[in-house]
Amino acid sequence: MVDLKFTTMTGAETIVEEAAVEELKSSLRGELILPSDADYEEARTIFNAMIDKRPSLIVRCAGVADVISCVNFARANSLLVAVRGAGHNVAGTAVCDGGIVIDLSQMKGVRTDLAARTVRAEPGLTWAELNHDLQPFGLAATGGFISTTGIGGLTLGGGLGWLVRKHGLACDNLLSVDIVTADGKFLTASATENEDLFWGVRGGGGNLGVVTSFEFRVHPVGTVLSGMVVHPIARAKEVLQFWREFEATAPVELTTGAGLLMAPSAPFVPEEAWGTPVIGVFGVYTGDLDAGEQAIRPLREFGPPVVDLFQPTPYNIAQAMLDDFMPTGYHNYWKSSFLTDLTDDAIDTMIAQFAKVPSPMTVVIIEHNGGGAMNRVGASETAFGHRDMSYNFLIPSLWADPADSEKNVTWTREFWEAMQPFARDAVYVNYLDQEGDERVKAAYAAPTYDRLVTLKNKYDPTNLFRLNQNIKPTVEV
Ligand SMILES: Cc1cc2nc3c(=O)[nH]c(=O)nc-3n(C[C@H](O)[C@H](O)[C@H](O)COP(=O)(O)OP(=O)(O)OC[C@H]3O[C@@H](n4cnc5c(N)ncnc54)[C@H](O)[C@@H]3O)c2cc1C
Repeated sequence: MVDLKFTTMTGAETIVEEAAVEELKSSLRGELILPSDADYEEARTIFNAMIDKRPSLIVRCAGVADVISCVNFARANSLLVAVRGAGHNVAGTAVCDGGIVIDLSQMKGVRTDLAARTVRAEPGLTWAELNHDLQPFGLAATGGFISTTGIGGLTLGGGLGWLVRKHGLACDNLLSVDIVTADGKFLTASATENEDLFWGVRGGGGNLGVVTSFEFRVHPVGTVLSGMVVHPIARAKEVLQFWREFEATAPVELTTGAGLLMAPSAPFVPEEAWGTPVIGVFGVYTGDLDAGEQAIRPLREFGPPVVDLFQPTPYNIAQAMLDDFMPTGYHNYWKSSFLTDLTDDAIDTMIAQFAKVPSPMTVVIIEHNGGGAMNRVGASETAFGHRDMSYNFLIPSLWADPADSEKNVTWTREFWEAMQPFARDAVYVNYLDQEGDERVKAAYAAPTYDRLVTLKNKYDPTNLFRLNQNIKPTVEV
């Protein structure tokens, strides 16, 4: 090993002596990866192929002690720090150029307390892995709409998923976290311990420290009724109008979303529809399956659809039903906003813009998360930004060939601009790409943002944890 060149927090270059890096290495149980190592390329690769960053050092932490060593090493040398869970965030904050990556992806411990209906989970887990371990007990953690995302980033930003209307956000089911703060201290935060920090990690992202363990409340879910109905795009307006009315009275046990997409060449799609634009309505009903059949009957009967895939499914499998639409390793560019309402004009605009979609892989998504458990939590109870929202609109553009980047990015921006008359100046923090400070502020209502700044001043005054949707501290240090 030789002296290593690093980027500091302020973007300057610095040299860290070989002896200091050796000392870090000897303090670790996990793997220290340098650019010259065989697994460096794999270790720096994340979900979004648009992100091509070259850290000077990656530590695949094996446990809490490794995380503390990394935080202390980074702070002592003023290094740029990225924290990686499963590496799914499209903004690419899980890696950095020239700094150190605190990679938690190997920390995958799970311990379920069946009597208490809680689970303690390490931050390298994906929702697929966590719910795999819960399924034999008929239990589930809320999680996301896709099973491959990390539990870490998703929970810290809020966490919208198939159980949101019944059981709330992922962060609403958080009972405690263990966290290493910027000063290298190991703290537990819960409703009775370091309460301010516990408030902040439920929505404030990775701003306040490195979470080494999440304790969640889990739910008896077992088998759910899940699937999708698909209609030709020519019926998209009436389908969305119907869905809007249907959702207004749907029980909280049912969470659904709609998507504009190109039909895949899959056996479950009639051959004549392959590669044609379609509209799908996806959903999960948790609870009594007969009641679920009743609840979704109007959705299955409307049209009727050309594809109807609703069926009883173990929850961990249901959670993965859309994974194939968002595979790892493609180019991603996302724009998103909460909608004021799903008006007819908003529907017309979506359909017109989608008609110009440049990539057959892109699925435009409207989530209906409102009218349920997440709205019952008070706006000031957690740091999650916008409790009163109902429809969440997302254009997660996805394409294979880097030569197509410009046209996909341009289309996404134009689509998002066209939707602004129907959007609130508010966005879900976890769907933000690299969009600047004003958009970070748009992810939080003003009092929440100000309170997060106060916490940042207390727990991370030098902004060691800055590679995230960053809350900037305002104190001089
Ligand atoms: C295909 C896809 C589908 C998605 N679907 C959903 C969805 O259904 N619902 C939803 O709510 N969101 C969804 N998201 C957004 C998702 O919540 C975020 O991308 C989230 O950041 C992913 O978590 P991760 O741990 O994999 O992220 P990473 O990229 O590993 O980390 C992102 C950031 O989170 C912070 N972070 C992660 N772990 C920790 C930790 N343990 N301690 C401190 N900071 C940490 C760091 O700041 C890091 O830079 C989706 C994203 C993708 C790409």
